[in-house]
Amino acid sequence: MGLRLYNTLARKKEEFVPLEDKNVRIYTCGPTVYGFAHIGNFRAYVFSDVLRRTLIYLDYNVTQIMNVTDVGHLTSDEDVGEDKMELTARKEGRSVWNIARFYEDFFFTDAQKLNLQRPDIICRATEHVDAMIELVKKLVEKGFTYETAQAIYFHVPLFPNYTKLSRQSLDEKIVAVREEVQEDPEKKHPADFALWFKAIRRFENHAMQWDSPWGMGFPGWHIECSAMSMKYLGETLDIHTGGIDHVPVHHTNEIAQSEAATGKRFVRYWLHNNFLRVEGGKMSKSLGNLYTLGDLEARGIKPLSYRYFFFTAAYRTTLNFTWEAVGAAQSSLNSLYKFVRQAKREGALGPEPDWAREYRDQFNKALEDDLNTPRALAAVWDLIREANRRQDYNVLSVLYDFDKILGFDLEQTPLEEELPEEYAALVAERQKAREAKDWARADELRKELEDAGILLEDRPEGTIWRRE
Ligand SMILES: [Zn+2]
Repeated sequence: MGLRLYNTLARKKEEFVPLEDKNVRIYTCGPTVYGFAHIGNFRAYVFSDVLRRTLIYLDYNVTQIMNVTDVGHLTSDEDVGEDKMELTARKEGRSVWNIARFYEDFFFTDAQKLNLQRPDIICRATEHVDAMIELVKKLVEKGFTYETAQAIYFHVPLFPNYTKLSRQSLDEKIVAVREEVQEDPEKKHPADFALWFKAIRRFENHAMQWDSPWGMGFPGWHIECSAMSMKYLGETLDIHTGGIDHVPVHHTNEIAQSEAATGKRFVRYWLHNNFLRVEGGKMSKSLGNLYTLGDLEARGIKPLSYRYFFFTAAYRTTLNFTWEAVGAAQSSLNSLYKFVRQAKREGALGPEPDWAREYRDQFNKALEDDLNTPRALAAVWDLIREANRRQDYNVLSVLYDFDKILGFDLEQTPLEEELPEEYAALVAERQKAREAKDWARADELRKELEDAGILLEDRPEGTIWRRE
């Protein structure tokens, strides 16, 4: 069987065949860097990381591009509201450039903690405005646009089958758009979207602006992704990923403007991840549940445990965040580390047993079936159960291979379990007491640790511990 992926465009799983041999060109819609990325944002990036790792695991040559949106994303995905970057800059009393770099760094620091492989090219919108202007010029030449006092628009009725990705009727879409405030009275069709905003009226003081054939201004959000993806990957991409919320507007507009410009199919496989819910509801600032990875860490949840939590649901289903569920994910991951530690201690370096083959197949099949991570995790646990039953621990090579996708750093599992922080502090305090020859205090602390099930042994090279 080969790899099968659910293509939103076809509304079904399709066999994955790249345009060119084993080369896969992926574009991933990246973050808009105007605030701290919250745990819901990362679902899209853990998903695209699994996709990337799976393709590499299956011997494809992957080129993955991810953008960083640092200009042009308005507070609504449609053409209303303010630029998110400018709004934050004003609120925080900093420059937009400062805001952009600060939140971008924050995003990549968290991405690294989650063991997300860095895409091959990360491109900032503000560094590719020339490519965007070129693409808009092409659309102007081909007659798909019109100009108003405020902007250059893509005229949607000129592009046949505009809603092929969302499968909404254009009428439905028009109603949805009308519900938002119309900010440009010269706009001809409610679904028309801006390719270029001029730095006049509501955007007169926009801090980021560039010269263009239509005067000073800045690019629309949608044109960013079309221009940058085609610049690096060519006119037809193999895979484009993003959140399911991008289907009706952002990705629909990307298709229209890209295909209008080139006359070619823009993307062969559109992959969309579903949302993360929190305690069964939406995430929002007003509910105070926009947790960051740092909030999880403050409550003792390690980033890789959170990564494990994502794998408990397939990317196309909604996933519900609860503290209990991430806690359970952390326990599972700790059990996995415990098994690896045990196998390492057993010195399990013998050849991989034949019986393990079945679990390799099970794992591969799960991923080849539209990246089914819960089933892949099940294969991991089935393998471990069988290893324990047979008392045959020569399966580390299998687990390390699985870890090429899971990304839990299994190979680096230390032979000794890490002592939880609160106990480590007591051990350190006892060491100080011993150095000060305060034997009474040292014994007291030893007793306290013993009560918690931690036994100490003083050796010439230092104090070691084990669980009771
Ligand atoms: Zn995008």
